[in-house]
Amino acid sequence: MLPSPPAREGQLGFLYLPPYRVQGISVAGEQTVIQIPELDLAFDIGQCTRAVLSAPTIALSHAHMDHLGGLPYWFSQRYFQKIGGETHMPDKGDGKPRIPVGRCICHPELEQHLRGMMRAWEPLERQKTPFDIVPLAPNSDIEIKNNIMLRAIETRHTVPSLGYAVLERRSKLKEEFRDLPQEKLRELRASGIDITRQMEIPLVAYTGDTSPGEFLVRDEFADAKVVISECTFFEPDHNDRARTGMHLHIDDIIRMLPVWKAEAIVLVHASRRTTIHYARERIEALAGADASRIHLLMDHRSNRARYEAQVAAANGAASGATKAAENPRPESQAEIPETQA
Ligand SMILES: [Zn+2]
Ligand SMILES: [Zn+2]
Repeated sequence: MLPSPPAREGQLGFLYLPPYRVQGISVAGEQTVIQIPELDLAFDIGQCTRAVLSAPTIALSHAHMDHLGGLPYWFSQRYFQKIGGETHMPDKGDGKPRIPVGRCICHPELEQHLRGMMRAWEPLERQKTPFDIVPLAPNSDIEIKNNIMLRAIETRHTVPSLGYAVLERRSKLKEEFRDLPQEKLRELRASGIDITRQMEIPLVAYTGDTSPGEFLVRDEFADAKVVISECTFFEPDHNDRARTGMHLHIDDIIRMLPVWKAEAIVLVHASRRTTIHYARERIEALAGADASRIHLLMDHRSNRARYEAQVAAANGAASGATKAAENPRPESQAEIPETQA
């Protein structure tokens, strides 16, 4: 009898949560990489998928191998394939043409070790791969796109860990000036009075690997439009395993449902032993009416059916002629995973 060919490599999960695509792979202990092309961002890089090469920034939650393993390869491939623009290149100030690299944002405690990891490749490869490693202290922000900020939120795992929130900054006219005519506002501004206040709108929040904690009820999580949360365990008797590994259990997620206002909660990092069918069953049994806003990134079948319905609805709207311009269309440079295209 002939031997069988190898099993097919894992397919990327894909959800279109307008205006965001959430795509990647996430299995506890194996690999987690979750990309949002519209935000020029990926959370973690346990594996360097072809799609994630287009993300100019990686927000690393912690340094377990299943979240970090793809990083050196990502730097290397972005360099080798000359991917990326001028935006995130280190400025050496030597007048030489700058080299496209990517940027990895991490917990400050990881910075030196990640640099050491990248330098360890240099004598092996006998060449220098450029890299940009940026520590981000808990509760501080870094700009990832115009007026779009990434905030680090300290979480609790077996190693130093961060969750992240992506926030849009908008300036709004202060209440007291709301009814004033334009010319009066111009006058006030000219006289140096600040007539606006800064608003922060949480767009997407990511837990990374973590135990439950008070950080999960922060505004950044409570008000985010999309929450991407780890949920490693679904079995009723696995609460103690979740505590030991410092992970979230579906019971923890259920407790967050009244707090998280998100239109969509995307669960990632389920363990390999948990079948999608079982996970879905548990969600339906425990979440009640909220089950419809909970998605599993790796539920390919449901997510594909959902996307096909979105496409059909968009096409229906398009045939209504005047609606054509409003069609949701993926806008960024990255491709939709082939399996979805
Ligand atoms: Zn993990
Ligand atoms: Zn971990």
